[in-house]
Amino acid sequence: MKKNQFIVVLITTLVSVIFLSTFWEFWLESHLGGVFHEEHREENLAVKLEYVISITVFVSLSLIFPAIAGFKLIDNDEQMQEKIKRLSEEDYLTKLYNRRKVHEIIETEIKRSRRYSSDFAVLLLDIDNFKNINDTYGHNAGDKVLVEFSNIIKHTIRESDIASRWGGEEFLVICPETTADGAISLAEKIRHNIENRTFEEAGNITASIGVAGVQHDDNVKSLIFRADQALYASKHAGKNRVTMR
Ligand code: GH3
Ligand code: MG
Ligand code: MG
Repeated sequence: MKKNQFIVVLITTLVSVIFLSTFWEFWLESHLGGVFHEEHREENLAVKLEYVISITVFVSLSLIFPAIAGFKLIDNDEQMQEKIKRLSEEDYLTKLYNRRKVHEIIETEIKRSRRYSSDFAVLLLDIDNFKNINDTYGHNAGDKVLVEFSNIIKHTIRESDIASRWGGEEFLVICPETTADGAISLAEKIRHNIENRTFEEAGNITASIGVAGVQHDDNVKSLIFRADQALYASKHAGKNRVTMR
């Protein structure tokens, strides 16, 4: 339990103890008042028992229920925090990571590959002639194509690869521990799967892909720049192809 969560539970419990014990005092006074005067103290066992039970009930109420309420509050708070975190990292349409999150991941991966001299590559994918799809079938159909496209990527990549929506009709895949050659074959596999899929609303579509393998002095900007240049070369060479830089 986090420190501030513990404090919430503690405060909730203490407030309840004070609140309920005040009630208890009033109840005791009105219910048993006078019974414990000198002349009754030794004799009245039943009243003593009632006194003990009342203490037990009030202590239980004072401690258990507020504690449960406190934990419930914390649970809701954790769920809310998780939801906020997820929404800040996720693309609303495809549910892939968004650009902000993937930028962070690439930064971490670059550091890792530098430290362990490991390979690491990125794929930048762009749907060909996507504007035509919107113009021909409408924006909603375009959105559905984006979702279907993202599902093809998800189902083609390895579990250790990370897919994201880079923006508009562009997607970025991070391939940790992958050589440039490995990344090219993955890119070809994705390109092939897209080319051979009949999309529900738009029929056949294609995508161009740029691949860049990490280099020793890379930062996020330089790595993405090379992937972008490779993508541009794929477009320039006639689209529906993979280029590596
Ligand atoms: P190219 O083959 O050169 O990539 O051409 P293109 O038509 O795919 O590229 P262009 O940049 O001309 O058009 C991209 C279009 O993508 C324009 C924009 O309206 C559309 N778009 C961007 N984001 C979304 C989205 O979230 N949903 C839909 N339906 N369309 C989007
Ligand atoms: Mg584009
Ligand atoms: Mg495009």
